[in-house]
Amino acid sequence: MKTRAAVLHDMKLPRPYTESKPLKIEEVELDPPGLREVLVKIKAAGLCHSDLSVIDGNRPRPLPMVLGHEAAGEIVEVGEGVTKFEVGDHVVFAFLPTCGHCKFCQSGRPALCEVGAKANGEGVLLGGHRRIKKDGQYYYHHLGVSGFADYTVASIDSLVKIDREIPFEIAALFGCAVMTGVGAVVNTGRVKAGDSVMVVGLGGVGLSAILGARAAGASKVIAADISSYKRDTAVELGAQQAVDSGADTALQEVKDDTDGGVDIAVEFAGAMPALEFAFNATKRGGTTVTGALPHPDSRFSLSPVALVGDEKTLKGCYLGSCVPLRDIPAYLELYRAGRLPVEKLITHRLKLEDINEGFERLAAGEAIRQVVLFE
Ligand SMILES: [Zn+2]
Ligand SMILES: [Zn+2]
Repeated sequence: MKTRAAVLHDMKLPRPYTESKPLKIEEVELDPPGLREVLVKIKAAGLCHSDLSVIDGNRPRPLPMVLGHEAAGEIVEVGEGVTKFEVGDHVVFAFLPTCGHCKFCQSGRPALCEVGAKANGEGVLLGGHRRIKKDGQYYYHHLGVSGFADYTVASIDSLVKIDREIPFEIAALFGCAVMTGVGAVVNTGRVKAGDSVMVVGLGGVGLSAILGARAAGASKVIAADISSYKRDTAVELGAQQAVDSGADTALQEVKDDTDGGVDIAVEFAGAMPALEFAFNATKRGGTTVTGALPHPDSRFSLSPVALVGDEKTLKGCYLGSCVPLRDIPAYLELYRAGRLPVEKLITHRLKLEDINEGFERLAAGEAIRQVVLFE
């Protein structure tokens, strides 16, 4: 069938994206869903910094690629061997498909699924295929989702079924921002009631971590960013304190207000000074979590003496260390109970044809979550 899709042909095009227009809206051909695959009509798709990192070349991917990895929609056709979904089901995409049988999936850590990671790295669906083409040339899938399209084909192992009453624009956010941000706090950082938490880097993921820390019962939630707009947003979402992480006084400020440092610091800025700030603001015996994805050549320096003498823990976090089939429904329940008010993250609603304007706004730091809505 034919569908519209936002296609990236070249990375590193110059800003402003309103002029260079890195994403081209094209009519493409979708192959029918194959074994354990479904055809999904996309209803909502969020603009995430990880899409921007492909556009600006910080996260190189094979091209041409249909971007978008945070989406929700409705199943309109099922392929062979699909028993757990049927036409009409509402679904959220998790941006890492999980095979269920590799040693990581078997040990309860599907965020490390090596089959899914390999497929994502190659820009193919979990079964190894590509289903999007134009003029006989196949395009690559973005993280098994390619949600910036009216329709997409996906592996069922990329999907989580959700209740029909959840609005699609809300549901979409749970596939990346909420899963990653809340998961970083709850799963990776193991925040418990009474802990002090600092989140550095306040995009959609970082602000979700602020909400997650509140929901987990943190006694003190500190928001840190160099942008005053984002700090103000974090305070509106319930952070008790906001710190300019670029200020010389920031570290001392946090230490003074937390009796020597926070229990858990979570970093989503993707900048080395931000990670170092998060580590240095972590108390003795505390945990620093980083879930940002800077350029692969990035390096940071830490004092091993602080790691050893202060018995700090530094943990990486991918996919919020989540089990998507377990955690997305659980976090949606928290949303329904009013404890994860993620609707407050949505600052803009767009049409697919306005997507380059959206990415320019994201690159300029003038938006939190922007959601493309489809008919
Ligand atoms: Zn994302
Ligand atoms: Zn696996």
